[in-house]
Amino acid sequence: MKQHKVALLAGDGIGPEIMKEAIKVIETIEKHRDVQFKLLPASFGACAYYETGKAFPDATKEICDEADAILKGTIGLSHEESKKIPIDEQPERGALLPLRNRYQTYANFRPVSLPKGLAHFSPLKPEIIGDGIEIMIIRELVGGLYFGNKEKGTKADGTRYVHETLEYDEHQIKQILKVAFKVAQKRKKVLHNIHKSNVLKSSVLWNEILEEIAPEFPEVEVKNILVDAAATALCLNPGQFDVMVMENMFGDILSDQGGGILGSLGLMPSACIGNDKAYYEPSHGSAPDIAGKNIANPYSMIGSVALMLEMSFGMDEESKMVWQAMQSVFTKGYTTPDLSHSGSHVKIINTDKFGDLVIEELNLLLS
Ligand code: NAD
Repeated sequence: MKQHKVALLAGDGIGPEIMKEAIKVIETIEKHRDVQFKLLPASFGACAYYETGKAFPDATKEICDEADAILKGTIGLSHEESKKIPIDEQPERGALLPLRNRYQTYANFRPVSLPKGLAHFSPLKPEIIGDGIEIMIIRELVGGLYFGNKEKGTKADGTRYVHETLEYDEHQIKQILKVAFKVAQKRKKVLHNIHKSNVLKSSVLWNEILEEIAPEFPEVEVKNILVDAAATALCLNPGQFDVMVMENMFGDILSDQGGGILGSLGLMPSACIGNDKAYYEPSHGSAPDIAGKNIANPYSMIGSVALMLEMSFGMDEESKMVWQAMQSVFTKGYTTPDLSHSGSHVKIINTDKFGDLVIEELNLLLS
């Protein structure tokens, strides 16, 4: 029997609620297949800070080091609550960025996907959605502004200032672009390169490297688009995009917009892949506004399990079944409240009921 160790970092806010549903999915797969997942829960984020004084405690690091893959929930507190934690232990700076840095998970895959039949979830008109939305956002995850030197201080004249560095080298750019070209080659052979070379020199270097490696992928057509124009185009004509590649901060922002055009961030899972380790997480935050109410959409967390099955454990068939099970629940008219808009005739269910329905579908598919 195959055995896989999975670190579980449920985190803050809705993290534990949606992680519970993800665990049900993992256990269902174990029941039907000759595989065992050794689940290793560990504390991470604001909850870890309050338990241990560290947002990414050493004990959690050890568990993550030992694991074959990491499944992360969500971290973070409300704006006001965050301020009660010292700035360097606040969840992103104290836990998330160090996690990404520790395992150099440079390639972040954020699928933005909505079949035509579920167009009613989206705030976009059905004629804009056309045959559905099927985009893969590939975001560089361990470089750029988020990882550069940061300094906040006061000048001699008393003026407060901040200084943050946006840094990339050619190796970092090349490795993420190669990932994107390879994905585009397997899909529709069109790669949208998102940049801001009219203002940022980092984008000028990015585009230079892209032109250097493009000949290695002659079948892939590159379309260059400025990040600001891409934001508009995502709303006006998302169907033009298949694979989009971009640096860290652009990807953070445009992928949340991806959630917006689908109708909810709850539809945004993601995979964060490094050369030696990968972790999987919803693209969104801890949603403090709905935490503890059992109304969060667990699709993003269960979708992250599907990505883990495929990308870390080669369980492509089971991964497809997880996606299929979630689509079946939606197709039958059930959804969590985030996807219920006025005029849409959906049956609203809670987080755990959504999980239960997914398990029912999955049991049928797996048996
Ligand atoms: P958020 O992504 O948590 O929430 C934005 C909106 O989307 C909220 O209205 C929320 O209710 C909704 N939402 C998000 N996920 C949902 C789901 N699964 N189902 C239904 N609705 C959902 O963003 P925020 O409120 O700006 O940030 C909250 C905290 O999360 C902050 O502390 C922030 O720093 C942190 N954060 C963490 C990550 C991460 O863990 N990778 C990412 C983004 C934000």
